[in-house]
Amino acid sequence: MMNTPLTVTSMIERAEKYFPKKEVISRTLGGIHRLTYKEVGERTRALSSALEKFGIEKGDRVGTLAWNHHRHLEAYFAIPSMGAVLHTINIRLPEEHLIHIINHAEDKVLLIDPDILPMIEKIHQELETVEAFIVMGEDYFVPKSELDPLYSYEHLIAEGNSSYEYTVELDENDPAGMCYTSATTGKPKGVVYSHRGITLHSMAFSMVDTAGLSESDVAMPVVPMFHVNAWGMPFGATWLGSTQVLPGPMATPKVLAELIETYKVTATAGVPTIWLGLLNELDTGNYDMSSLRAILCGGSAAPKALIQGFESKHGIPFIHAYGMTETTPLVTLARLKSYQTDLPEEERLKIRGKQGLVVPGLDVKIVNENGEVNRDGEDMGELLIRGPWIADEYYKDEERSAESFRDGWLHTGDVATMDEEGNIEIVDRTKDLIKSGGEWISSVELENALMGHEGIFEAAVVSVPHPKWQERPVACVVLQDGIELTKEDIMAYLEPNFVKWWLPDDVIFMDDIPKTSVGKFLKRALREQIREHYSVEKN
Ligand code: ADP
Repeated sequence: MMNTPLTVTSMIERAEKYFPKKEVISRTLGGIHRLTYKEVGERTRALSSALEKFGIEKGDRVGTLAWNHHRHLEAYFAIPSMGAVLHTINIRLPEEHLIHIINHAEDKVLLIDPDILPMIEKIHQELETVEAFIVMGEDYFVPKSELDPLYSYEHLIAEGNSSYEYTVELDENDPAGMCYTSATTGKPKGVVYSHRGITLHSMAFSMVDTAGLSESDVAMPVVPMFHVNAWGMPFGATWLGSTQVLPGPMATPKVLAELIETYKVTATAGVPTIWLGLLNELDTGNYDMSSLRAILCGGSAAPKALIQGFESKHGIPFIHAYGMTETTPLVTLARLKSYQTDLPEEERLKIRGKQGLVVPGLDVKIVNENGEVNRDGEDMGELLIRGPWIADEYYKDEERSAESFRDGWLHTGDVATMDEEGNIEIVDRTKDLIKSGGEWISSVELENALMGHEGIFEAAVVSVPHPKWQERPVACVVLQDGIELTKEDIMAYLEPNFVKWWLPDDVIFMDDIPKTSVGKFLKRALREQIREHYSVEKN
């Protein structure tokens, strides 16, 4: 068969050619913008032509520091289509990490949202390779700034060539994008995505048994476009000609609910904390969510209560998925098999609360010291993954690459089980498992149960050192507004469902649980906070 390359370029070209009337609806600091794919396509070409004038060549890295909006979408296509590498930068990282990753990726140009400019102004003197800055605001003029040279995005688009041809010769294995992921120790690690990887990921993402993305969808990625390509949704949606709603900066639960209602969003994606917030908002406000056919949830474990909350209270299908930066990211997704749909609700929920089946195209296995685990849903081991959209190294980082990529597999550091149907359940991250008296306790399972309590908004379980048992679990709990619960109430609630030694030694009530840059519980900070709490108490 023919060996034509799979490229990101062909995605935007398809949208221009066959869906010129379909729309991208974008929320920025300047308000709501509605653009057709014809317009997005022309602006994308104009951006490529402008970057070419800056001397950007095949293989050069161009960084973006931006929220989810149409300009960021244009960069998603303009940069790879001209052969350069789209480096999406996580704007929530601490300054020292930002400096590191921009220098490590050797970004030549940075595209920056206006509200993020001050952050780059603070560090610009330490950036070693950046030759130009572009502000992605509404104006043709640039704000007063220390960044030099600084250009206006809209001015470049207006002056650019909207019929620029993508003539660069691309191999499908050429890099299209990159993203850094936070490491437990040391600096963030870079992952490079190839044109081929992104294309095959988009195909798998869109399959009916996966996210089932289609032209008729109104897709709204809430997961940031600076984190694993917003789970690939903008690539897939553009390719298929789906309408896109890009929710922009400060997308609070209220903003999200309003966008879903106004633009009749059908499919959306984000981390559990986003959906916990939206669920609360739906309880207070009066919104019409009837357009939604799927909420995709991943990034950390979706509590069963969250799935149930959306489905039974609001009739909104909720799909649990798993992946990581190294995997573009989709690896597994939880759906019932056709012969499982008549199971009692509790059993169906149990299956759908797991991370699910590996998507077509990838291989997974779970191994421990005895080899591959038994498919009994109990035997635990480390999850290993391989496939055409799985990274095979960290960018310019031989040492840490050798730790994670061995024998042709990505070693995820996630501890998982597999049941007889093949469903994977992530028990914990290796580093978050709690080892009590030589036995493992899953923090995730306890959290899941706690968040199933009506009065509990959020819960995270971490280990504290123990003289006899090495480690013991402690639960950190945020109550729903206006609810009062005691430690005893919570223990009594957990008791029937867990063996005694799994029960937390203590319950600490908090106003807020510290979160990572992408909204996951920051277990490391929490562990330190809790340990401090105990040492203060002792003194
Ligand atoms: P970071 O490592 O910076 O948090 P990633 O987004 O790459 O960034 O995180 C991937 C990790 O998130 C996985 O290795 C896993 O531990 C966790 N994760 C992702 N999805 C799920 C899920 N559905 N359930 C439980 N854990 C998940």
